[in-house]
Amino acid sequence: MLQPIYNAPTPETAPAAVAPDPLAFLKVEPSDPDKRPEANLEDDTDTRASRRVLCRECLHPVTREQDRTEVHGAHQHTFANPSGIVFTIGCFRSAEGCGAAGSPSDEFTWFQGYSWRVAVCTGCLAHLGWLFTTASGAAFWGLILDHLIFPEN
Ligand SMILES: [Zn+2]
Repeated sequence: MLQPIYNAPTPETAPAAVAPDPLAFLKVEPSDPDKRPEANLEDDTDTRASRRVLCRECLHPVTREQDRTEVHGAHQHTFANPSGIVFTIGCFRSAEGCGAAGSPSDEFTWFQGYSWRVAVCTGCLAHLGWLFTTASGAAFWGLILDHLIFPEN
């Protein structure tokens, strides 16, 4: 004869499902699945490298840590423009959240052999830096580091 099993959960006594996060509506859920926060994988260095770098003005995803590159031996460069304004830029292989404006110019270029175009955030059109290109097709983005928000370590 079967004995009743005490403390075994039944459908009526099983713990309720975890309540929904009451602040969930505050969380930004980008529509692009590739742009979702990767909070569950914070210890994964590959994931950390793929975290988004955001526009400081509008939080639009601009580029990724893993797209950092070196040009002329360094990722970071500090230059002054002809007006004497100093910019510290980082070099990135790609910046999907940037658009290049205007025609390429080689006036006052900071990188020998490269022409530049102004790079703006495609979210808010803030000036984020410059797209540098060569006649042979090489290209990189020089983005003003103060205008970006980097993922926390
Ligand atoms: Zn922006």
